Amino acid sequence: MPLPAYRGRFAPSPTGPLHAGSLLAALGSWLLARQAGGEWLLRIEDVDPPREIAGAADGQRAALATFGLHHDGPVIHQSKRGGIYQEALDRLLAKGLAFECHCSRSDLVASGGIHRHCVAAARRPDPAIRLRVPDECEIGFDDLVHGRVVQRVDVDAGDFVLRRADGPWAYQLAVVVDDAAQGITEVVRGADLLDSTPRQILLQRALDLPTPGYAHLPLLLDTDGRKLSKSCAAMPVDPDDPIPALHACWLALGQGALPATIDSTERFLAAAIEAFRIDRVPRDALPASAAAHNTDATSRR
Ligand code: GLU
Repeated sequence: MPLPAYRGRFAPSPTGPLHAGSLLAALGSWLLARQAGGEWLLRIEDVDPPREIAGAADGQRAALATFGLHHDGPVIHQSKRGGIYQEALDRLLAKGLAFECHCSRSDLVASGGIHRHCVAAARRPDPAIRLRVPDECEIGFDDLVHGRVVQRVDVDAGDFVLRRADGPWAYQLAVVVDDAAQGITEVVRGADLLDSTPRQILLQRALDLPTPGYAHLPLLLDTDGRKLSKSCAAMPVDPDDPIPALHACWLALGQGALPATIDSTERFLAAAIEAFRIDRVPRDALPASAAAHNTDATSRR
């Protein structure tokens, strides 16, 4: 079977209920996939057990369904994919592109947490594995919302972790392996990951994997200016009353209001697929309250 021309995905970490910021990312990603006649997959990014909240993945899944954001194919759980990540890591180690690192967090304080050379004060029984990032490593890509983005990965990220010293797989490795394994052609997600994308592209090249297209959607911020999900007041969306939350996310995506008379998620989403324009999506983060109540704040770019 040939791969579809467009395959998107939503990849929540099960760290709490679906909140307005993740609904916005899910809606934008779903709309672009459906507009392109493509598929939209769901992946649960449960690689970090201490951050996980029991039942959160099921809750997020149920909430997406209530909002009408149905996914295609089976749901993948990263916690079950250690063997596949290990294979990728072994390939990098065999090519000399990854190395064992005994440095602790405190060893790297002097360099602002950026690793360029091992300076470990002591060897540890469980070293981390890092990607060796070449000097003057500049990676650029064209984001559908942010335009050209260029980063010096050696300076801004350094040799980044692929498997942590305490055992878990790093997000960067898991996401790159899974996006390729699932045949994802477009990654549409929150702008907090904009500065992770050059690392992911570097890793794709090291593993001879294709680079998908990228679009990074605006974040919603709490009253203290923090990303909604990182806040204690992460405003879960109310799946019992989905239409107002969908309208609010739609406006936060910079789109012109849809008729207020729309009374079902199916009708809302059908109208949204017709009307969605990626070139209207704002670059800047928005206060969550503005996304919910104030259409003016959604039009800047
Ligand atoms: N798991 C990440 C999150 O919940 C998203 C990762 C991604 O889309 O690449 O913020």
